[in-house]
Amino acid sequence: MCGIIGVANHEDAAKIAFLGLYALQHRGEEAAGIASYDGNIHIVKNPGLVADALDEKSMEGLKGKVAIGHCRYSTTGSSNYKNIQPFLVTHKNRPIAVAHNGNLTNTETLYAKLEEEGSIFQTSMDTEVIVHLLVKTKNGDMQAWFRNVLSQLQGAYSLIFLVGDTLVGARDPNGFRPLCLGKLDGTYVLASESCALDLIKAKFVREIEPGEIIIIRGNNMESCYLPRKAKGNCSHCIFENVYFARPDSNIFGDNVYEVRKRLGRQLAKEHPFRDADLVMAIPDSGNYAAIGYAQELNLPLEIGMIRNHYIGRTFIQPSQFMRDFRVRVKLNPIRDVIKGKKIVVVEDSIVRGTTSRNRIEALREVGPKEIHMRISCPPIKSPCFYGIDFPSKGELIASNKSIKEISKFINVDSLEYLSLEGMLSVMKDSKDFCHACFTGKYPVEIPKNTSKYLLEGKIVKK
Ligand code: AMP
Repeated sequence: MCGIIGVANHEDAAKIAFLGLYALQHRGEEAAGIASYDGNIHIVKNPGLVADALDEKSMEGLKGKVAIGHCRYSTTGSSNYKNIQPFLVTHKNRPIAVAHNGNLTNTETLYAKLEEEGSIFQTSMDTEVIVHLLVKTKNGDMQAWFRNVLSQLQGAYSLIFLVGDTLVGARDPNGFRPLCLGKLDGTYVLASESCALDLIKAKFVREIEPGEIIIIRGNNMESCYLPRKAKGNCSHCIFENVYFARPDSNIFGDNVYEVRKRLGRQLAKEHPFRDADLVMAIPDSGNYAAIGYAQELNLPLEIGMIRNHYIGRTFIQPSQFMRDFRVRVKLNPIRDVIKGKKIVVVEDSIVRGTTSRNRIEALREVGPKEIHMRISCPPIKSPCFYGIDFPSKGELIASNKSIKEISKFINVDSLEYLSLEGMLSVMKDSKDFCHACFTGKYPVEIPKNTSKYLLEGKIVKK
């Protein structure tokens, strides 16, 4: 998963991109980068959080009125320097930089074809394939050029390109990942989520439509479309709504906070525990569904765990000893709220089950009478090939254990999940979502070779 931002025509383009990335930090904490253009191309990218990767001194060099930025959570290729985006090349004196959110599903085929034709790859990212296609394709008219290249891609992509002084934004025809358009002082801005527009005081204009390509030069914008999918419906990632996107963002035509609250209400309708003394969330991911759950049943909502906001990434230590402490340093239960009570604990989802187990263990230590866990989405049983880093089936707990077995593993008195129908019923247009992680029904054909390190293998072998 990743966050992307683009600024088309502003004196402080790179600074605005930096601020936008700050708001998109939750979409990728591994690395961040910005490329800008003032007749010459400038780029800074480093591992780490946005504020560490792009320090003040390095930002000074990012001159120009056009800039794009990226924060990365790797879903293809490992976390090495070469894989940090924006990915930049110069072709016939024209710089092309790209920031990508999503995962292509036909990477291997395209990669093999391009290599056969003489392309030499520098990274192990699917994103690089797109740039190779761009430089190989005849490029008279911008619209035709991008339509031609992007129609060769399959899978999930929200993309922002810097092509010299021009900004290009695009979204795959399924609309898997979000991408929106804003306006700031007459300048167009593109961002993964609307929370980035809020921070930079840009006005939300609209979402980029699935299959739309937007070309912005100066303050002029034109738009064209890729051929529509045969089936017609979109496949927005429902997990963006469940967990990934920020609740203050509007994506897929809805406000994420409101959607999560509706999920919580629906969960309460399906699996009420009216005898509870209180409802609490696992912070922060369960907060919003917990509000909905408590409101629906008219139960008191309490904050039962306090989050420590000051844990840097440096706390992630490889030894088991330190890992155990990491869980405890992040969240601490409030004994006086929980002791002797029958509690409902709301969480957005269970992936591997290990975090949930640790949280429940911490809660048990402060002596609740009963713990009833409620999950605001169905059991996650299948991996994602469109940009969420879900582990293989082997690691997805719901793929291997029944709900009863998971309940035992996590050590709760009861465990219930929201149904698929219930989850879809609270979405604005239930037909327009991808729910493959719950159902295994993939809207775009998935690759046979599914490793995240697909291209790494190729590079290492040679
Ligand atoms: P666990 O109990 O270990 O499955 O952790 C569950 C929490 O991690 C939930 O809040 C999940 O939504 C969150 N989570 C979200 N995305 C992922 C992911 N790709 N891998 C693991 N955990 C995730």
